Amino acid sequence: MLSKKELFKLFSDQRPRRVPVIPFVMQYAAKIAGIAYRDYCKNPESMAESQLRCLEEFDYDAVNVSSDAHRLAEALGGELFFPEDGVPVVKDPPIKSAEDLKGLSVPDPTKAERCRQRIRAIELLNEQRPEVTVIGWVEGALSDASSIFGPTNAMKALYRDKTLLKQLFRFSAEFDRKFARAQVEAGADIIGAGDSLASQISTENFELSVEYTKEIFRSLDVPTLYHVCGDTTHQLEVLRESQVDIVDLDREVDLAQAREVLGPDMVIRGNVDPVLFVQGEPTRIEELSTTCIRDAGEEYPFILSAGCEIPPDSRRENLEAMVRTAKSQG
Ligand SMILES: [Zn+2]
Repeated sequence: MLSKKELFKLFSDQRPRRVPVIPFVMQYAAKIAGIAYRDYCKNPESMAESQLRCLEEFDYDAVNVSSDAHRLAEALGGELFFPEDGVPVVKDPPIKSAEDLKGLSVPDPTKAERCRQRIRAIELLNEQRPEVTVIGWVEGALSDASSIFGPTNAMKALYRDKTLLKQLFRFSAEFDRKFARAQVEAGADIIGAGDSLASQISTENFELSVEYTKEIFRSLDVPTLYHVCGDTTHQLEVLRESQVDIVDLDREVDLAQAREVLGPDMVIRGNVDPVLFVQGEPTRIEELSTTCIRDAGEEYPFILSAGCEIPPDSRRENLEAMVRTAKSQG
């Protein structure tokens, strides 16, 4: 594992002694630890244990405390369904209209139960393995707005009611700034934000949401990471202006093109096809890992990873192959 000092050379003129490798593990980490995902999402001890077990098994370079996108929805009284071994879903979004937002105060993440649990997981990771880099987690404005208002309603609002949408983005980003700050105070070294719907909307609409998300990045004095899912080729210029330090790209994005647009200083993370961790062979993962490193530009700051979360049914030897490839590259 790279030390924090070594890893953080990514954010300077220097480079770490080898390519860092940080897979996005959530469900897979719980599976490795033999912990039901419901417990992983609700219990900070289970999350910290899963993350450390998985790190110890595969020896990559950082852990994270991401699990699902609905902590704000729950803090606002939204009801969630937690399958025993799957990602929780919002049964009933807490915000149904502009009326609901009026006079609603932004929840305090240090008081909301499941937000407090994520903060506690960071404290536990730091207590147990202080040398490990911990990536804290919040949601991008688009992700939180669709969680608290419902994804279909949020999509409709994008086209029909920009005023309401901006109010949702502002509310979400204000909460996430507070949540991110609390996680940094608990010991998070990097803060990530996720926007899984980024590929689904127009560049203009994404730009609007990023106006709010970048307030989160701007408010922090630790490096930040922006995880976007799917083909976000049409959003690369918006990502370049998002003031984030690490852009985390999914498998559909061509990394050579991404480097061209994002420039030489932005850290890129990505983007081996996650599906191949389940269905592919280790030799193919090695091949693709090498291609990612080459395409992102060996002299530029880069973190090897899969394009998105490592699927829970991944073959162990495929994750081993990705880590091995990073370690074999200077
Ligand atoms: Zn993703």
